[in-house]
Amino acid sequence: MLKSMDNLTFYSLAQRRTKLNAFAALCQCHHETRQNGKPWSSELCWAANNCAGIKRGSGWTGAIYNKVSWEQKPDGTKYTTESAFRKYDSIADFLADYEAKLASMYPLCVARQDNFWGYFDGLITGTYKWATDKEYMRRLAETAVRLAPEIFGEAAELKLKTALLYALEKGYLSDANAAIVIDVLGIGAIRDDGKQKTICLDAGHGGKDPGAVSGGVKEKDIALKMAKLIGGRLAGYTVAYTRTDDSYVDLSERATCANRIKADLFVSIHCNSAANAQANGVEVFTHTSQSEGSMDAANTIYKKLFAAASMVGRGIKAANYAVLRETKMPAVLVELGFISNAADHAKLTNPAWQEQAAAAIASGIEEYLERI
Ligand SMILES: [Zn+2]
Repeated sequence: MLKSMDNLTFYSLAQRRTKLNAFAALCQCHHETRQNGKPWSSELCWAANNCAGIKRGSGWTGAIYNKVSWEQKPDGTKYTTESAFRKYDSIADFLADYEAKLASMYPLCVARQDNFWGYFDGLITGTYKWATDKEYMRRLAETAVRLAPEIFGEAAELKLKTALLYALEKGYLSDANAAIVIDVLGIGAIRDDGKQKTICLDAGHGGKDPGAVSGGVKEKDIALKMAKLIGGRLAGYTVAYTRTDDSYVDLSERATCANRIKADLFVSIHCNSAANAQANGVEVFTHTSQSEGSMDAANTIYKKLFAAASMVGRGIKAANYAVLRETKMPAVLVELGFISNAADHAKLTNPAWQEQAAAAIASGIEEYLERI
């Protein structure tokens, strides 16, 4: 019989299982074993070490524990029934069986063990559904928010948010589940309730797509460095990135990432290139529809960048680029200068210039976000 269990003990036991995301397992079992609001106190937990309501089935030949429990009909009517649940000698035994059950019936959870939000989604959107409860994702998300400080300390909030952005980047969440997590984390209706505004920074290209290349310098590397420098200066805003490393993200996924988190502004960072080595200068693009918000953001950012870049100003232009067309919020694409032009190239690769240009773009973004 289970005498006592606490979050950290359970978490450290779960960490020993190689196919589990320990935090996700903790959250699910914490939720499943709640009785009168207290975790680790349900009858199944203390009498059978069964922390996730796992029933006999699936060829189980071990001990069983019979228990009367509430069930719900599709029309919502509740009824009681006696069910046979699996019984374990210890929490470690439970975790081994729970892991095996996930591996055989919930493979998405195992495939997404690098991300607890994706793991939760795997419990709900796979072939089998762990719970018929329509609110299951919300309950798991709320549990994650409650437990994160105990497990991750001061980094908890950052961990919850960066894990969400990673899940969105990887396509781990259905739209419905993404909306629930965004809502629970409070980064959705930002403008309405006075919370932080959100900017989505898109470092162009990445992975197998280097973008323009000149003198051994790749556009994708400058774009990523600049996106991070810009984001680092935007204290006071929620900053999302379509990529934070040298990975390939397709164009629609970039727009989808911004749309899902309901960003207030999307800024894509690129460097220009031309066959004519004389071509040079900075320019900012909006989509050809030239929405008022996009034009306003483009103007504000362009002015600041032009003033700081010591480059020729090529002005604001319109183009039917996918990331500008498919994003649902004001969106601009910044061309920082020509990697194919010697003078621009020297600036683009100079850390001092990069800092200066990033500060200018960040200040333009800030000015725009303050105004909306
Ligand atoms: Zn580019």
